[in-house]
Amino acid sequence: MRLCPNPTKSRYATREAAESAARRVALRIEAPLAPYECPCSWWHLTKGTPEQPIDPATAPRYDIEHLASLPDIDFREIVARDVTGEGDPGQRAALRHSRNVLRWKRQLGQLIADIEGQLKDRRGDKSLAGHDWAKRAVGRRDALVVRLNEAKRLRAADHARITVNQERHRQDVETAAAAGMTVKELRAAAGEIAIQRLIAAHNGEFDEYLAEEYAALGITLPERIERYRRERTGA
Ligand SMILES: [Zn+2]
Repeated sequence: MRLCPNPTKSRYATREAAESAARRVALRIEAPLAPYECPCSWWHLTKGTPEQPIDPATAPRYDIEHLASLPDIDFREIVARDVTGEGDPGQRAALRHSRNVLRWKRQLGQLIADIEGQLKDRRGDKSLAGHDWAKRAVGRRDALVVRLNEAKRLRAADHARITVNQERHRQDVETAAAAGMTVKELRAAAGEIAIQRLIAAHNGEFDEYLAEEYAALGITLPERIERYRRERTGA
């Protein structure tokens, strides 16, 4: 938990809570407020335009795989640019994808530890230049902490999703075993039954499609189907 740079501001536990507070305020004053995440781990509201959230689901497949294949030094470059809100949007989303998020989180932790090490080493420097440097370093560290908190949230959500999927799969295996089948066989059976129901419900359409395909391939329609079609159309 970090010290809050704006301890007098109202604080909200989540973006959603901050957004609903902003909507209430918008009814009373003109200036629109928008939520931003603070290094203190809470959300506050600002009149400025804070950055828009990045949805990992928008990451292009190419960027996800490309980032996963990068050596640390190049990956870190993307991590560093993202902290200041720069970089390719696809790559920024790919950092947050479940395939890369753990590496992103680890590198953020390392970058934070580096800065804190430097701050410690230069603690004795009371010069004006030293003070300026420390102020910038703290600002950069705080920006990294905001990203780290985001990475932790995404990791937790990925973990929860994986757990749910594993539980569902375990239940499916049990259900199939009770029927003396595998999950794959049970799924195939469901698909087969659905096809039979679809044909039964749309018999006429099915015969028409079949007739079209026979014609397209240049072969004669079986007598039985030809008779059904005649009976239905009354021809
Ligand atoms: Zn704060």
